[in-house]
Amino acid sequence: MFKKLLIANRGEIACRVIRSARRMGIKTVAVYSEADAGALHVEMADEAVAIGPAPAAQSYLSIERIVAAAASTGAEAVHPGYGFLSENPGFAVALDKAGIVFVGPPVAAIKSMGDKIASKKLAAKAGVATVPGHLGLVKSAEDAARIARDIGYPVMIKASAGGGGKGMRIACNEAEAKEGFSSARNEAKSSFADDRIFIEKYIEQPRHIEIQILADGHGNVIHLCERECSIQRRHQKVIEEAPSPFVDTAMRDAMGAQAVALAREVDYRSAGTVEFIVDRKRKYYFLEMNTRLQVEHPVTEFVTGLDLVEQMIRIADGEKLSIAQKDVRIEGWAIEARIYAEDPSRDFLPSIGRLVHYNPPEEDDCVRIDTGVREGSEIGIHYDPMIAKLIAGGDDRQAAADRLGAALDAFRIRGVSHNIGFLAALVEHPRFREGALSTNFIAEEYPDGFDGGDLSADALVRLSAVAAAAQRRYAEHEASITGALPGHEMRVPDRFVVFIGEERCETRISPAPGGYDIEIAGADVRLESAWQIGEPILHGFLDGEALSVQIDRVGVDFRLSHRGVARLVRVVSPRTAEFTARMPVKEVPDLSRYLLSPMPGLLSSLAVVPGQEVKPGDTLAVVEAMKMENILRAERVGVVRELHAGPGDSLAVDQMIIEFE
Ligand code: ADP
Repeated sequence: MFKKLLIANRGEIACRVIRSARRMGIKTVAVYSEADAGALHVEMADEAVAIGPAPAAQSYLSIERIVAAAASTGAEAVHPGYGFLSENPGFAVALDKAGIVFVGPPVAAIKSMGDKIASKKLAAKAGVATVPGHLGLVKSAEDAARIARDIGYPVMIKASAGGGGKGMRIACNEAEAKEGFSSARNEAKSSFADDRIFIEKYIEQPRHIEIQILADGHGNVIHLCERECSIQRRHQKVIEEAPSPFVDTAMRDAMGAQAVALAREVDYRSAGTVEFIVDRKRKYYFLEMNTRLQVEHPVTEFVTGLDLVEQMIRIADGEKLSIAQKDVRIEGWAIEARIYAEDPSRDFLPSIGRLVHYNPPEEDDCVRIDTGVREGSEIGIHYDPMIAKLIAGGDDRQAAADRLGAALDAFRIRGVSHNIGFLAALVEHPRFREGALSTNFIAEEYPDGFDGGDLSADALVRLSAVAAAAQRRYAEHEASITGALPGHEMRVPDRFVVFIGEERCETRISPAPGGYDIEIAGADVRLESAWQIGEPILHGFLDGEALSVQIDRVGVDFRLSHRGVARLVRVVSPRTAEFTARMPVKEVPDLSRYLLSPMPGLLSSLAVVPGQEVKPGDTLAVVEAMKMENILRAERVGVVRELHAGPGDSLAVDQMIIEFE
């Protein structure tokens, strides 16, 4: 077995690989950019080598520097993680030349599967079902419209070199086909330096189901069943699970057999994933093969009990697979949620900043957290905005979802915007619980984004109880200080009015064993909790049922977050409540005359000039952020008065770009 392994990656996946290597008794070498000098993966590894400035092109994507780091530290093998150089055949070749083992598949397999057009041709050859479409290159917007018409709308326009949901557009008509072609091509050029585009049929209401495979260098290929990754936003996975609630044994065996056939066709070795898109009638079509470890691999590890990184390392070292297909067992259910630094209330724009607070829930047999950050870490503009992966498992799907929901409630991040509330709302969503998934789930269920979740009657009771209890603790504390003098004892109030948005709840509260009895709008509940002032999360039981609610003090208010519902809550005495009703309401300034930058980024172009009339849907400007092109469009009719920024300007969030008459 190798004695030393270099991990050519950063963040959670670097940390995750280090953990397995360490368990196997292998020494680890981390590489890091200037931005990552204090990062967790650097601290965890036995050795670390600086490889250049923050931009990935000069560090994590520099083949030369990483090969040099491996050579200078005597690492015998390199694990590439995912992203960066993991599917770069040039990297595997360079390592090979330096006599270093690439922990991944053979170069030829990376090459053929890395290209969506080439891989579809090979899949068809191996007898794998593929999405109907046109595999020739699309040369112009007119060409795109013609091909799309032949295939029949809707179509999917894709970059052959694509990945991570980039360079991909759906088109339902000719205008969209033309615009989709141009923007997909621009994105492909800037993200992959390869602007080849192809078009295929768009499968409606699809599910994304993929098969994990393992192949050794001795001709053994097995599959580790499926993962369903249909909960996506902009074609990026958000929640993944294993097994899939849509797949039965016959379908699993058939898909698994096709995945294995494709792996054999390309002489695959290592861990890999064959992705399928599945229509409503359970017909499945090959999408692409990822020749690396996937972000969502932990759910497979949970249900199979295997360590995929360990398997990859053993295979790279020449070992035979120790398990055969018949030994692969699926036990229980696992669901993974990707926690991103992004703002769900602002159309999920990436957020950057310092993790002022980072308190994940406790890990146990059913809860796993893969992360590369800790409190104080910086989420920067240079890399992927994923903060952590939270994986929860259980005996069945409901149990896993319940565990995930509870763990999300207990996951506290402050300092950057994040999607924890949104993930919690997804996991609680009745349609998610039923398993009625499709890749359109988020677009259909949250067409206007997510801003704090709906306040159900049940949530209203829970939040009111917590708010009243918290206020009562403050009152008890005050009474213990200022009311300590004999004859001046302060009476601790037992009646509060709780305001949650438009809702108003009268409460009456009295001490009970381990907490309080609370009467809320006529109903009685018991809240047991040892919560103390200043603690960020109230853990306790409401009528015997466990609950965790995050509490932030905001001035005199509380901000409560629980099961995807986040609300600013005010708790006052009945008398103050009377006065509050008479207070004037502050008017919100009208910003609709301005186009503000919704995110930090680079203004790549402006499509209008002063005096120009615009109508809803017209393109106004294009802002590039985190390697994505974001088209800002007019929301209503107007006339441009003045431009406040120009192409090439770097924009702060909310910076004014265009002013209208
Ligand atoms: P990437 O390599 O960028 O991840 P994929 O080809 O794997 O791109 O597709 C990502 C997602 O885009 C899929 O999971 C699916 O949701 C959607 N998608 C891709 N192709 C199609 C298609 N032909 N019809 C419907 N949805 C598709």
